[in-house]
Amino acid sequence: MRFFKLEAPYYPTVRHADRRNPVQQAVHSRIPGVDCPVCGRWSSSDRLRLVQPRAEFGEVRFLSLAEWRAQRPEWAHRLGVSEEALTPGAELGPPHAIRISEVVEDVVHGVPGDIWVGSRGAEAFRHAQLRGCELIPVEFDTPERESLCALVPLGSAWRVGTRERDTVQCDECGRRGFPRPEYFEIDVTRWDGSDLFIVDRNPNILFASQRMRDIAVELGLSNLEFREVGPTR
Ligand SMILES: [Zn+2]
Repeated sequence: MRFFKLEAPYYPTVRHADRRNPVQQAVHSRIPGVDCPVCGRWSSSDRLRLVQPRAEFGEVRFLSLAEWRAQRPEWAHRLGVSEEALTPGAELGPPHAIRISEVVEDVVHGVPGDIWVGSRGAEAFRHAQLRGCELIPVEFDTPERESLCALVPLGSAWRVGTRERDTVQCDECGRRGFPRPEYFEIDVTRWDGSDLFIVDRNPNILFASQRMRDIAVELGLSNLEFREVGPTR
């Protein structure tokens, strides 16, 4: 079994990075963030791409921990998701983008964990019926010639040696972290078999199966690299 971390290629300067990823993200709808007595104000980077965004959620605001917890059941009910799926500051609905200039690459990198593919890649991934990989169209503020779809990971795995409680950084509010940030060995026994997945509940890094990587390499998708992580054979 081989696994790969999805990465942007090396850019020598910020200008190179901006030219190859000429979009800016705009978030219009979020679950409120939380004001924890221990950690202060924080928002997660979680994205609930498959829910219908609802205008009443709006942009960034923060609630006390007690108020946040009191409202969570009602939010979950309105959005049609489980309470556990809702984390402070989670983004709701499809990604929004503002175009800076023409997209010429097959792949565009937004904020960490948000990777968008053009029609060539999206068609190939859809055709392959990859497991755990949803493709959600990016909504632009201006009409686009080239469409982009966000790669939405539905799969999950854990790294070797991480227990769920190791990722909890605050017992008061349940804020999670990603200890050992450069360690990526995947525990095959705790991988759900998805072709696209995140590890240890961290939404900021995407991982792919060999199947997904081979499709992308065969197509020669530009502006995307697959770094092999363990376990290696
Ligand atoms: Zn806290």
